[in-house]
Amino acid sequence: MTDTIAALATRSGAAAIGIVRISGPRAADVLRRVVPKTRAVSRPRRISFGRAHHPESGTLIDEVVCVYAPAPHTATGEDVAEIHGHGGTLVMRALLDATLLAGARLAHPGEFSSRAFAHGRMDLTQAEALMALIGARSDKAARLAARHLSGAVGQGLADEYDALTDIAAALEASLDFPDEDLPAPQATQLRQRLADTLGRLRTVRDSYQLGDRLMRGAAIVICGKTNAGKSSLLNRLAREDRALVDETPGTTRDIVTASGEIDGIPVTYLDTAGFRASPERIEQRGIEKSQQALQRADVALLVIDGADDAVTNWQSYLPPLSCPVIAVHNKCDQPGFAVRPISLPDGPSLSLSISALEGTGIGALEAALSRMLQGETDASSVILTTARQHQLVKEAAVALERGLAALRSDMPAELVAADVREAREALAELWGRHAEGDVIDRIFSTFCLGK
Ligand code: GDP
Repeated sequence: MTDTIAALATRSGAAAIGIVRISGPRAADVLRRVVPKTRAVSRPRRISFGRAHHPESGTLIDEVVCVYAPAPHTATGEDVAEIHGHGGTLVMRALLDATLLAGARLAHPGEFSSRAFAHGRMDLTQAEALMALIGARSDKAARLAARHLSGAVGQGLADEYDALTDIAAALEASLDFPDEDLPAPQATQLRQRLADTLGRLRTVRDSYQLGDRLMRGAAIVICGKTNAGKSSLLNRLAREDRALVDETPGTTRDIVTASGEIDGIPVTYLDTAGFRASPERIEQRGIEKSQQALQRADVALLVIDGADDAVTNWQSYLPPLSCPVIAVHNKCDQPGFAVRPISLPDGPSLSLSISALEGTGIGALEAALSRMLQGETDASSVILTTARQHQLVKEAAVALERGLAALRSDMPAELVAADVREAREALAELWGRHAEGDVIDRIFSTFCLGK
């Protein structure tokens, strides 16, 4: 890490300003070679005006402002300099090339952030939050990522981590006196503390369902027979005419998608080909695609034509589903409308009557979707947002479950202590302590250049 690195921190293309970031032991030197008369280095953390020149030919590149800050209280924990130029593609390329000629090397994607992590300027959950914040698809997702960026995951789990440290210490102390059993009151207290910590970890573990939905968005798949009103419902929910609505059955053959948001959760609605007994070949392929989409759905909306008598055995049309199914009885504006019986292995989670044509019942449907997508998670508690975080908390919970079972069946304290230590290590890995190099590399390799 003795290299000095540089990269464009802003996207290339016409813009008012563009920024070249430099980090490493030679940052001040590189800056002085590109902007020879700059006063930035002698006045750290203050903006200075300057003229950037090609370090070899001396050609003027741009009028710039620069800022310099010495280690360790910087974003990367190293000496850092920034050159703000006029954001044209050619100007910015020339500025970057100048810093490379002056002794910096081009940074790898995520290298600024991985240096920040290596210098203890942020933990891994904060690094993950950076990318989540940049890629957030809704205000709520962005707010959650911003909370994580300021260390909410580490702070939110600090009590659990400390509790595990205490429990491990108590168990290990008892190991020093192998002939004596833990005194009964102490054993009861330990068991209680372990059970409480496990309970809280389970809640955090389960928060991933919401966190994942907030970050990646939820898939709401609209299915049902042809002509039930699926496309009309998609257009209603998406508030735009995305899908073709027609009385001819079999109009939607490929999947039509539309983006939306439900109470801060980004969602993708997928309108799928309708099921019918003897579809044409191309329609059959559409139906297969519907089935695949259903298997990845967060919620399925089964649209039923309430004005049509045909009772259908839905089991023969739908693949086995692990997501909740809302039975949406459509066309409640029609005189012959009735809520039709539905046979499904687990039954629908909910039944609602709507008119996609007139908009009746859409608000209630959206409220139900919101409840299902938010789940039980309290929005102010720790919400896990990456598969890595989820995996580690899951591992911690499994180790504690084992430890608690061992404690309850009077197994040796040594075994319980090993499980508690394992849980504690899994939590520590969450913020990056003892994380393997390849895990760390994997996280930072997903970053963009200049980050
Ligand atoms: P899909 O094949 O399931 O996608 O159904 P469409 O959305 O294309 O609708 C099929 C037909 O039903 C069209 O003629 C729609 O205008 C009509 N339709 C859809 N929803 C309603 C509704 O709520 N009430 C009435 N009366 N007609 C509807």
